[in-house]
Amino acid sequence: MRLQGCEKPLHIDGGFVGVQHERGHLLRASAWPAPLPLKTQRTRVLIAGGGVAGLAAARALRLRGIHDFTLLELEDTAGGNSRGGQVNGVPCPLGAHYLPVPGNDAREVQDLLEELGLRQRVAGRWVYDERHLCHSPQERLFINGQWQEGLLPLQDVDASTLADYRRFARLVQEASSAARFTIPVSKTVLATAHHALDAMTFEAWLDQRQLTSPLLRWYLDYCCRDDYGGGLATVSAWAGLHYFASRHGFAAPGAEPSTERGAGILTWPEGNGWLTQRLAQPLGERLHAGRVVLRVAAGKHGVEVDAFNTRSQTMERWQADHCIMALPLFVAARVVENPPPALHQAAATLRYTRVAGRQYSPQGCAARPPRCRAQLGQRDLQRR
Ligand SMILES: Cc1cc2nc3c(=O)[nH]c(=O)nc-3n(C[C@H](O)[C@H](O)[C@H](O)COP(=O)(O)OP(=O)(O)OC[C@H]3O[C@@H](n4cnc5c(N)ncnc54)[C@H](O)[C@@H]3O)c2cc1C
Repeated sequence: MRLQGCEKPLHIDGGFVGVQHERGHLLRASAWPAPLPLKTQRTRVLIAGGGVAGLAAARALRLRGIHDFTLLELEDTAGGNSRGGQVNGVPCPLGAHYLPVPGNDAREVQDLLEELGLRQRVAGRWVYDERHLCHSPQERLFINGQWQEGLLPLQDVDASTLADYRRFARLVQEASSAARFTIPVSKTVLATAHHALDAMTFEAWLDQRQLTSPLLRWYLDYCCRDDYGGGLATVSAWAGLHYFASRHGFAAPGAEPSTERGAGILTWPEGNGWLTQRLAQPLGERLHAGRVVLRVAAGKHGVEVDAFNTRSQTMERWQADHCIMALPLFVAARVVENPPPALHQAAATLRYTRVAGRQYSPQGCAARPPRCRAQLGQRDLQRR
């Protein structure tokens, strides 16, 4: 029996929300949108960009007792890709929707969650606030005309695919025993094994091991695009293995799932906007929203920053001892005058991922479309 609702033609009115692209496009304008002011404002540290990176920098300054700082953010609210929004009054994420429960390498995140009252010690154990904890997030895959639980294709897979799944699970296990993979990556001391893995693409690594199953490759490609914005042929073998080895491993069908899976994720109706709102709240008047940073230059008295105030439609000039660039890489490379070679090189390797279309797309496979994120080259992935 068919459900009535299924017969209606699917029509979705949609569009882009949450980004004021015309503000970003001011960077392209050859002339300043308004004349420069006569008066220069002073601050000890200027933070350009109010996403998670800029907000985390502001928190780090506060914790070190530095309160004289200013944060300039292009949008009307801080949070960047971790902002929340609303649809018909119902809160929703505009980008990031959950935070995995941090492991012990992510002490700073643990501290933040403790400060926000999400993590506390009860009877000698650390526990997370049940209201925001999701123990078993479920994702489903539509394949061969049917839905299945989980994203690894399982229905009607042949013996050779199953063998590839199992061999890949063993190889992930071996890689994590040979060298540590951590989140955050900055806690990883790169071992020789890591360097070798980072010198080749994930695709080449799979080729070398004759892991040829199109279903396994489709799944791994999806995972890489989802997390890194680049597929198997772009990300390094180190990054591809990091996806699994730093977290829950890779569970082949029939294998015992890793116990780490039980840690779960923290999530809210407005996604990680819940967190960014709380990071922004203590900033008060130090957060200047609706400011488009157009130029950052080393001056005689520190750093000089020119920004367009979208509210008053005027230019502002700031002077600071230091400037923290928490902007997307390609924006930073545009606004910094005489950028250092490292920034130039990093921006030059930047490409954008395709939103639709994958290299390995077995017939009938459909999962969530890959997130549209800036794609980083191998060396940048190593640093993340
Ligand atoms: C669709 C999607 C889903 C995601 N899901 C998750 C998830 O579930 N969990 C998770 O942990 N991560 C997730 N992520 C990743 C996470 O959102 C990002 O890693 C994080 O938000 C990046 O923060 P950021 O501060 O580095 O950059 P951004 O968020 O890009 O912040 C940069 C800020 O700079 C501002 N800016 C840009 N140009 C200028 C200018 N000229 N002047 C002033 N300000 C400027 C921007 O408006 C923005 O606020 C997701 C990302 C996307 C896109």
